[in-house]
Amino acid sequence: MRMYDIIQKKKENKTLTREEIRYFVNMFTEGVIENCKASALMMAIWFNGMTDEEISELTFAMAESGDTVDLSKVNGFTVDKHSTGGVGDKTTLIAVPIVAACGGKIAKMSGRGLGHTGGTVDKLESIAGFNTSLDAESFIDCVNKTGLCVIGQTGNLTPADKKLYAIRDITATIDSIPLIASSIMSKKIAAGAQGIVLDVKTGSGAFMKTVEDSEILAQKMVMIGKAAGRKMTAVISDMDVPLGNAVGNSLEVIEAVNVLNDRQHDELYELCITLAANMLMFVHQKSFEECRTMAQNAVKSGAALNKLKEMVKYQGGSPEWIDDTSLFPHAENVFPVKSEREGFIFRMDAEKIGEASVLLGAGRERKEDKIDHSAGIILQKKTGDYVRKGDVIAFLHTNRRYSFIQAKNLITESLTFSAQKPEKRDIIIKTIR
Ligand code: URA
Repeated sequence: MRMYDIIQKKKENKTLTREEIRYFVNMFTEGVIENCKASALMMAIWFNGMTDEEISELTFAMAESGDTVDLSKVNGFTVDKHSTGGVGDKTTLIAVPIVAACGGKIAKMSGRGLGHTGGTVDKLESIAGFNTSLDAESFIDCVNKTGLCVIGQTGNLTPADKKLYAIRDITATIDSIPLIASSIMSKKIAAGAQGIVLDVKTGSGAFMKTVEDSEILAQKMVMIGKAAGRKMTAVISDMDVPLGNAVGNSLEVIEAVNVLNDRQHDELYELCITLAANMLMFVHQKSFEECRTMAQNAVKSGAALNKLKEMVKYQGGSPEWIDDTSLFPHAENVFPVKSEREGFIFRMDAEKIGEASVLLGAGRERKEDKIDHSAGIILQKKTGDYVRKGDVIAFLHTNRRYSFIQAKNLITESLTFSAQKPEKRDIIIKTIR
């Protein structure tokens, strides 16, 4: 078999066989196939797409390219969730404790933030002492004792995806639905859970800017997961506006605690209850409505908040910080951003808000950058709100005084005003089972 012929075949829009896809993934992972040839194949896929069989084969080959997580020692049904990334997305911190409080088992590997989107591992590390690098035995023990555990990616998971992603990133081939679907699902399949709920974001702060593209991506990922024998659901949710009011690591943990204390009934709460209910449907084989009520009761009773505290304690963090969120370190400066206009906020570009939070120190421009856990943004106004000149739109928390003007300008640029109240898009746009 020759890589040249595989590239030629895809260039001519023909279907690759299982053997050809396996040959490419295995030889590329081993370094036998050069980056230039892999890039050519990625570009041919970008233009010509892949059949469902090809996408599944590519996913399975990547999932099997390195270590896989063995969750067979977890007592109970294992569920996972994945978000395609957004601004202010703290859903894992809320939905996972809810599911654990209702009997689901979550052994979750999460990522760090990069660019305008944040990562759960960074958020959890804003709790003093929290260890996101448990060994495999402690990972399973934590799940068996508390029902949940969240760590960073360990071991040699999906090396083929890591190498391919790095190439796609520099050859303008990230934005291909078959390549995104196989990349995400290879990691989820390798992570071992029996049931997976995907939160596919759509809008200005998301990878997929239109509902149509988000729906195709969601359908492909559900198809792949089912082909791998996993229970699958995808929820398409709005990411035109940041999720909740907080953007930035410790600020988002504090907001998550607020939701788990049953003090915040907004879109963030609604999305977390929906994701948790869908995960619980796999665990209990009950209707969505029954699982939704179960999830809401876990918040009302405080059981979900207790689960978060149990996990924090097991993973070396201070549960007292969850009881008293004033213990989180504060940024030195809190600057208000005031409105220069009057009217309804018609649009708020989530990506620009995410970029502003990176400038304040809450995120990374490059993988090796250090983040400031206390930095970020608290939004006071969002799409649909009426504002007068001088009203505070947001508070910027930062230890970088010098970045305030640039961040403030980005927030101002992110806003479009109108004389009429805009129609609000529902947070849940569609569910695909
Ligand atoms: N996230 C991933 O893990 N892979 C992609 O290709 C895009 C987003």
